[in-house]
Amino acid sequence: MHGIILVEMRAVIVSDIHSNLAALQAVLEDAAREGYDELWCLGDLVGYGPLPNQCVALMQTKAARCLAGNHDLGVLGAVPLDDFNVHAAAANRWTAGVLEEEARAYLSSLASRQDFDGVTLAHGSPRDPVWEYVVSPYIAAASFAAFAGNVCFLGHSHLPLLCCEPPHGTPLRLLAGQAGRRVPLTGRCIVNPGSVGQPRDGDPRAAYAIYEDAPASAIEFRRVAYDVAATQTLMRQASLPAYLIERLAQGR
Ligand code: ZN
Repeated sequence: MHGIILVEMRAVIVSDIHSNLAALQAVLEDAAREGYDELWCLGDLVGYGPLPNQCVALMQTKAARCLAGNHDLGVLGAVPLDDFNVHAAAANRWTAGVLEEEARAYLSSLASRQDFDGVTLAHGSPRDPVWEYVVSPYIAAASFAAFAGNVCFLGHSHLPLLCCEPPHGTPLRLLAGQAGRRVPLTGRCIVNPGSVGQPRDGDPRAAYAIYEDAPASAIEFRRVAYDVAATQTLMRQASLPAYLIERLAQGR
């Protein structure tokens, strides 16, 4: 049965890695087992976690497309650290101190939005790719007006979400992206794959998604268990804020 399904392109979508190498490696291993053509990263490679250089190097090697998120820009000094909460600012300051020149150069080369072949990638939202959170039907409606193609992938909220533009007059609904579910994309859709390195939907497992663009486009939300304690130990050794260490185990 499998052999007669013509799939033109499978893209693995990752976002909000946040220097969590154990989570990123678990996701890449799971994705390799599933098979894919391209890897797209929606930004926030660094911030919060203990291994920024390793995460940036992996994406530099493996990602066909990659965006800069607000934390990447904060670490580079391109947006002020005052714009972050106290824990995020402390982690970004620590990251800026350990970030190596090659990682800094790669992050500096990235934009926060890309448009190609009917697809838009944005870190936050298509109208404000650095800062806006798409977490309500109201902001989703504004987001649909800000891209022209069929599908927009975005991150930033760390919540796996799906929202497809309804037929005329029907209100927009944001649906939680459920692990293991493959959903056909009908009409224009906005997809958040969730966060690799700091999930916030109550499930501590790393989140990502696989996008198929043909013959009928579809998205599969996936979750992968990883060694949370290993990342927490490295964060303690780096004296990163206790609040950031604890939240990883809760997925909050
Ligand atoms: Zn983030």
